[in-house]
Amino acid sequence: MQLSNDQLLLPGFIDLHIHAPQWPNAGVALDLPLEDWLNVYTFPLESKFQSSDFAKKVYEDLVQELLAQGTTTALYFGSVHNAGNLELVKACLKYQQRGFVGKVVMDNPQQTPANYRDESAAQALTDTKTFINSVYELNKKARIAVTPVITPRFLPSCTSEALAGLGRLARQYNLPIQSHCSESDWENGYALQQYHQRDAAVLDHFGLLTDKAVMAHGTLLNEADLDLFHRQEVSLAHCPISNVYFGNAILPAKQILERNNKIGLGTDISGGFSPSIYQNIRQAIISSHQRYEGVDAQLDPQTRGTKAPMLTMQNAFYMATIGGALSLHVPTGQIKAGCYADLQIVHQNWKTFQTETPQLRFEKLLYQTDKANIDQVLVQGKIVIGKEKYCENHK
Ligand SMILES: [Zn+2]
Repeated sequence: MQLSNDQLLLPGFIDLHIHAPQWPNAGVALDLPLEDWLNVYTFPLESKFQSSDFAKKVYEDLVQELLAQGTTTALYFGSVHNAGNLELVKACLKYQQRGFVGKVVMDNPQQTPANYRDESAAQALTDTKTFINSVYELNKKARIAVTPVITPRFLPSCTSEALAGLGRLARQYNLPIQSHCSESDWENGYALQQYHQRDAAVLDHFGLLTDKAVMAHGTLLNEADLDLFHRQEVSLAHCPISNVYFGNAILPAKQILERNNKIGLGTDISGGFSPSIYQNIRQAIISSHQRYEGVDAQLDPQTRGTKAPMLTMQNAFYMATIGGALSLHVPTGQIKAGCYADLQIVHQNWKTFQTETPQLRFEKLLYQTDKANIDQVLVQGKIVIGKEKYCENHK
């Protein structure tokens, strides 16, 4: 394989938080508060995934779209229903994306709609076990195996019986865990009201904060929570677009990187509207600048923003690649011996009028690239998007 002069080779991106069944709603109802967005738009859509036909259509489209956007690995929330979840697994296997897929558990009748919830904690745990074993079965013929993931939706949607059972299953099967933690004032407040403890402490109590756990958002985590995450090597999935709508605050991503917590990037479809990690890289930097500067012009410039250091492009690129790979314990996200060849080949879409240093070119590339500039995508050394002979034809 030989690149042309205007092509560059990058590691494939890792989407550390995405709700696959919400793909048809990407860009819908982002003006609502989280609780209303869930009940009016999101849960009714997710309930449709008990139909494997509907699920197959949506999931095949989503997996191909993510690959075309340069995302070679994704950590997916499925829905409650295994019929749909197995279609997501099959789509990952078919299109050869490195998939991590969870059957969502939500069994709390107080906080979930009657027509979209697990019947009971016992049923949720049985269905989770069935899902895990079905994935292992499907993996038998796979080139790139899908990893099942223990997936309590978040504290409000789960009973303590389900949370305790999921903690036990994660240990028994030695599997990754994903959930949301301190995503918004509403969700953060639920744990305080219900358990008289913080979100992170409750998840930890149930054995759900392991070194294989990925917690989404975390905009309202405090220093003690972050210490707990650091101690137990829990990862954060930073979802900068979604956080603008639902996070109630800007995650101090730079400071979290500086304290050596594990952190990657997620699109959070459809809390975020874009399936592109490029777009989330940009938003991570934009949000970081706004956090620094502040937003209320009526305040004195000295007190308007945090004036805490901002994310660099290198920081954001790290989160989209190595940060995600470390979170999932997969040797990917880097172009080097010992790592999987999960790669994207992109072509520069701007004309050059002056000397461009590697740093300038790097920044310009990440600000300017979109799907149309991604020529080929490889997962584990095999081309999954683009033509085999693209490079030669492109000359
Ligand atoms: Zn989410």
